[in-house]
Amino acid sequence: MDCIFCKIINKEIPASIVFEDEDVIAFKDRNPIAPAHILVIPKKHISSVADAKKEDSLLMGKLIMTAKKIAEDLKISDKGYKLLMRVGRGGGQEVDHAHLHLLGGAKLAENIHPVSSC
Ligand code: AMP
Ligand code: ZN
Repeated sequence: MDCIFCKIINKEIPASIVFEDEDVIAFKDRNPIAPAHILVIPKKHISSVADAKKEDSLLMGKLIMTAKKIAEDLKISDKGYKLLMRVGRGGGQEVDHAHLHLLGGAKLAENIHPVSSC
């Protein structure tokens, strides 16, 4: 499958991995928009939240709990951080493998306003 995040999971392309277990992997975003910018993804290829099935519930929830742990490890938890998941092109999703953005290390602007209709 031609999925860039599956290639990272399979170690076919490099990434700066900060956490990995049997279900999830987390790595630094290659174009960070915050001092700490980590992507947490399921190892199972799920294109987006819109494609997640009921049986993926635990796995999708684990993305959040993994981000929480990474935020604590990176010592950005006390000051707060943002968790962001884009869904589909209208939501700004560019990579079609579900991923949770962990953004922190600075006060973050809201930046959630629509730019155009879709
Ligand atoms: P989204 O717009 O939510 O789909 O975000 C995709 C994110 O993946 C962007 O922030 C990209 O910078 C990031 N990204 C794409 N390819 C890579 C890669 N090979 N390694 C790390 N981050 C990547
Ligand atoms: Zn994938």
